[in-house]
Amino acid sequence: MSSCFREWELPPQLREWNTLSCGLIRGGEDREQRIIGWFHPCVALRIRPISMAELEEGATLIAHKVDDQMVVLMDPMEDPDDVLRANRSREKSYMFDVAFDFTATQEMVYRATTKGLIEGVISGYNATVFAYGPTGCGKTYTMLGTDHEPGIYVRTLDDLFRAIEATSDNMEYEVSMSYLEIYNEMIRDLLNPSLGYLDLREDSKGVIQVAGITEVSTINAKEIMQLLMKGNKQRTQEPTAANRASSRSHAVLQVTVRQKSRVKNIMQEVRVGRLFMIDLAGSERASQTQNRGQRMKEGAHINRSLLALGNCINALSDRAGGKYVNYRDSKLTRLLKDSLGGNSRTVMIAHISPANSAFEESRSTLTYADRAKSIRTTVKRNL
Ligand code: ADP
Ligand code: MG
Repeated sequence: MSSCFREWELPPQLREWNTLSCGLIRGGEDREQRIIGWFHPCVALRIRPISMAELEEGATLIAHKVDDQMVVLMDPMEDPDDVLRANRSREKSYMFDVAFDFTATQEMVYRATTKGLIEGVISGYNATVFAYGPTGCGKTYTMLGTDHEPGIYVRTLDDLFRAIEATSDNMEYEVSMSYLEIYNEMIRDLLNPSLGYLDLREDSKGVIQVAGITEVSTINAKEIMQLLMKGNKQRTQEPTAANRASSRSHAVLQVTVRQKSRVKNIMQEVRVGRLFMIDLAGSERASQTQNRGQRMKEGAHINRSLLALGNCINALSDRAGGKYVNYRDSKLTRLLKDSLGGNSRTVMIAHISPANSAFEESRSTLTYADRAKSIRTTVKRNL
């Protein structure tokens, strides 16, 4: 299956523009970021296999992949008195850049969504990959995966190291990664939780950074998997009525590629590319968790981040443009400001269960993902 980034091939006028801006940058005449193109995000939909628990409850399958891009969701209409629903069409189809069902392997999902971002990150562009969807629908499986079926994190890092090794320029590349969670609007380092809560700060170049976070430099992909598995165990997971081991936090793997060159025997940073890979907290509504107190508070915070993300997506997808994008509403959107807003290629992988019991959640997930398709972001090269 090919990558859904057909647009990566820039049209000739933009390629020229890119060359021109590089020339200016080298000449030192213009230190601003240069826009080199506009991209819509790649929005993918993955329907996970039916689970044992669903089978035991006698679930029926209501979500189907029709072809590589189309998914159909059928309203099970379990309430015969719901007149409003009875008058609605039972089947609704949705188109995405790419659709997967239980037959898709981890490699297929990775190749069609994320692999195409690597070249850009090495050359100094930002990219963000989101796993979105209700708890239990496969977000962590897609991003982290298992020892035998590693997910996007490890496959990306593996290919990133390989791509850097294959570069033929005279640059030096430094890869570092950090892994954090945002839980109740607080940031914790998953590689070193004893650091306590960390703050977001703007660095001298105006880039938002997590102050004091552990940055691990290049190690091999297998070691990274172990590190991430260990980090993932540190995530705040609490039982809720919706799922026994619900992920109540957003997990963010940030990979930074620094390109350096030697000028008069001193190594200088030339470009920085950042890749965020984010396993979002469950998108189920707070009301569905049927819990009070602490759990309700979490629900509100999770919704705050997801709502803020949704609002940013809405503002960014406003075709008329010029709509104010408010990144300040949550830690997640603040952290992603430089990426999500104007300067990133974005991939969203939405996840649903195929079972009838998940109908409402699947429908709202498909609607959210559908809206994300119309985001338009400008792509600039970082300096
Ligand atoms: P989430 O992170 O969205 O809460 P998980 O990734 O933990 O969901 O998935 C819930 C369960 O379903 C896990 O046991 C996971 O291994 C399994 N699962 C999810 N997606 C797939 C898939 N595509 N193939 C096989 N098992 C899956
Ligand atoms: Mg999870």
